[in-house]
Amino acid sequence: EVQRSAVDHLPRYVRVNTLKTTVEDAVDYLKRDGFSYQGQASRLEDLTLKEKDFVRDLHLPEVLVFSPKTDFHDHFLYKAGHVILQDKASCLPAYLLNPPPGSHVIDACAAPGNKTSHLAAIMKNKGKLFAFDLDAKRLATMSTLLLRAGVTCQQLANQDFLKVDPDSLQYKDVEYILLDPSCSGSGMVCLLDNSSADQEKDQARLTSLASFQLRCLNHGLRFPCLKRLVYSTCSIYSQENEEVVKACLQQNPGFRLVPLLAKWPERGLEPLTQCLRASTSKTRSHGFFVALLEKHSGAGNMNQ
Ligand code: SAM
Repeated sequence: EVQRSAVDHLPRYVRVNTLKTTVEDAVDYLKRDGFSYQGQASRLEDLTLKEKDFVRDLHLPEVLVFSPKTDFHDHFLYKAGHVILQDKASCLPAYLLNPPPGSHVIDACAAPGNKTSHLAAIMKNKGKLFAFDLDAKRLATMSTLLLRAGVTCQQLANQDFLKVDPDSLQYKDVEYILLDPSCSGSGMVCLLDNSSADQEKDQARLTSLASFQLRCLNHGLRFPCLKRLVYSTCSIYSQENEEVVKACLQQNPGFRLVPLLAKWPERGLEPLTQCLRASTSKTRSHGFFVALLEKHSGAGNMNQ
């Protein structure tokens, strides 16, 4: 019950797909469609909206915010790929990684592809976007989503990221990696309490997820030209978040954390305050975690 009411009160977010339109055009279209534009939000309270009101988000420039029950599934802007239905927090990883147009990028665990399409928009469809997923069905859904979003710079592969060879010539120019691996999903407020009565089993599941997440992170850092890797989960547990990042930094002294968005209201747990967290209470979104790792200058690639 508690969980259901939380999701009923969460604002609805959409990300404007700049491969197809601009924020200004999307706002104009929505105004003509009966929505009432309240301008740019400047405080968290501005995201509490009624009925047909909407605002531009205060942290993410391409995100529009609507009242909790707004449904876009049948809306023209969604069907035409002009907007992507994506929670605000899940727009952070691609936004923070910010790969320039022309760069080579890996989306390691990509399906159903909301973050992939966000990366492509930031890259203006220029460069190469290698996207992997283990699940063929989710990858098929992803193809449809990317087609609708007008993404053309991607190369999809139904492949285990842990088996992708970092030394393959194909990936020799990869400088950016987005890693959003499978997690407990404990931050998704719409998933009604999914912890079982068996606490031992839950702990075992978390331990196994955390070890998978750490392996993915370590693997990502092995790409020879890597500059930056963004790690994210929709989990609220430090075991899948700060603990994974801490272990990874210990094992990879050539990398450090980049301090993220000074204005963001919720930080990673001490001492990893460079990282961001998100929650219904502090950021009015689902629960989320993001860390950005970058190679020390001087460390790593000897060819530069
Ligand atoms: N980034 C996606 C998005 O924004 O739409 C969501 C990714 S979801 C949290 C995690 C994905 O990782 C799942 O689709 C799952 O099939 C995939 N996955 C799990 N293990 C994997 C592996 N070893 N290699 C590649 N993908 C994997």
